[in-house]
Amino acid sequence: MEKFDIIIIGAGAAGLMAAKIVSRAKKKVCILEARNRIGGRVHTLIKNGFSKPVEAGAEFIHGKLPVTISLLKEAGIKYYETDGELWQLKNDKLLRRNDFIEHADQLMKKLNELNHDISIAELMNTYFKDEKYSGMKKSLQQYMEGYDAADISYASSLALKKDWQKEDDEQYRIEGGYQLLLDHLKNTCLQNGCSIHLSTIVKKINWKDDYAEVITKDNNSFFSNKVIITVPLPFLTGEEIDAGISFESSLPTVSEAAKQIGYGSVIKIVLEFTHAFWETGEYRRAKNMFFLFSDEKIPTWWSQLPDKTPILTGWLAGPKANALANEDDDFILQQALLSLSSIFAIDIKILRQFLKASLIHDWMADPFSKGAYSYNTIASAAAKKILATPVANTLFFAGEALDDNSNATVEGALNSGKDVAEKMLNIL
Ligand SMILES: Cc1cc2nc3c(=O)[nH]c(=O)nc-3n(C[C@H](O)[C@H](O)[C@H](O)COP(=O)(O)OP(=O)(O)OC[C@H]3O[C@@H](n4cnc5c(N)ncnc54)[C@H](O)[C@@H]3O)c2cc1C
Repeated sequence: MEKFDIIIIGAGAAGLMAAKIVSRAKKKVCILEARNRIGGRVHTLIKNGFSKPVEAGAEFIHGKLPVTISLLKEAGIKYYETDGELWQLKNDKLLRRNDFIEHADQLMKKLNELNHDISIAELMNTYFKDEKYSGMKKSLQQYMEGYDAADISYASSLALKKDWQKEDDEQYRIEGGYQLLLDHLKNTCLQNGCSIHLSTIVKKINWKDDYAEVITKDNNSFFSNKVIITVPLPFLTGEEIDAGISFESSLPTVSEAAKQIGYGSVIKIVLEFTHAFWETGEYRRAKNMFFLFSDEKIPTWWSQLPDKTPILTGWLAGPKANALANEDDDFILQQALLSLSSIFAIDIKILRQFLKASLIHDWMADPFSKGAYSYNTIASAAAKKILATPVANTLFFAGEALDDNSNATVEGALNSGKDVAEKMLNIL
């Protein structure tokens, strides 16, 4: 029976970052990963028909984020700033837009006056009832559902305020894709002697002080003194799902805490065309477009600028993404093309002629993520504290959802993995 100092469940950003740090400290480390690949919600694909690698999951670095940027520098991976303008379809016209949310200054003023947390829905219904705020309410709802994949009935107003205070306008992309960063982490872990077991779904953990037996779906057991669990929230809630993990002794506070943090869905649609018809065609134009917002079924779109590859990425998130759950890729592609047809006033048959390649990823249907990423609810802060507290100094939790400052991002996941690894090394 082989025994490890530390078993890490999940080879996403959090798990690999934690593994990098604890393996560097000469601990015997094993990573168990359900998928047949590393990366988790980072998933860069090289797919037939596309002229560059495409991101099915994470795509942007939201600002000069310290952990991400220092890893990129360590690995010698290049990144570049995004470019272009915001556009929207309003009253059947394509118009430039200044900001993601209309009247953001008034909203921020009200958020600053709040002395207790309320949901975004309550904020809108209490303070912005007047008809004159309808544009702002609509864009705020679009932002919360679209960017945060959140349900406004649960999403926290104080968390929105905190996000905005640190909001960085700059966005970056990684040349060659996010996977390069994850591959760098994996290679460092392997050099440090970690073992990585892919296609290994953990089902159960029997644990007591300083001892754990981790049991997989195939009934194999792995033994260690400590376990770091980095799976997405749905697998900790105790619900009967394939990759759900149960604990013996049971951990009701953990499953309850995992349910208290929001977790939203995203359907991402990446389409490459023969040319950028939105820049030059005889249809409606959105020149130099980075983001475009609309009320179509697939409402949000963005380009690759400053890279001129004629790719448009469609984004459907939050409660609206649930409406397309269980639909097949052909149906979603048709909805995407109908949306573009309506936005740019172009015949769908012509669009189909221009279409070179497509990729659709419904993260709700993904068996090992069951959604896209977390969002902060009014109950999140307390729930995160519970999950951040190790159980009997044996079970440690990490992952994007636990990070206080940058949840829902790769930076948040890396940071959470780093925190948990340092916390563990302090007691080993
Ligand atoms: C569509 C989409 C777009 C995004 N865009 C961005 C972006 O632009 N910028 C950004 O910074 N972030 C973005 N994110 C968020 C970012 O991808 C995540 O926050 C981050 O990758 C999460 O890392 P993690 O390690 O916490 O979780 P994961 O990457 O989910 O890793 C957890 C791992 O656990 C594995 N696992 C699950 N269950 C089990 C089990 N029972 N046994 C063993 N293994 C298991 C999973 O397969 C997975 O590999 C996006 C996410 C999505 C889905």
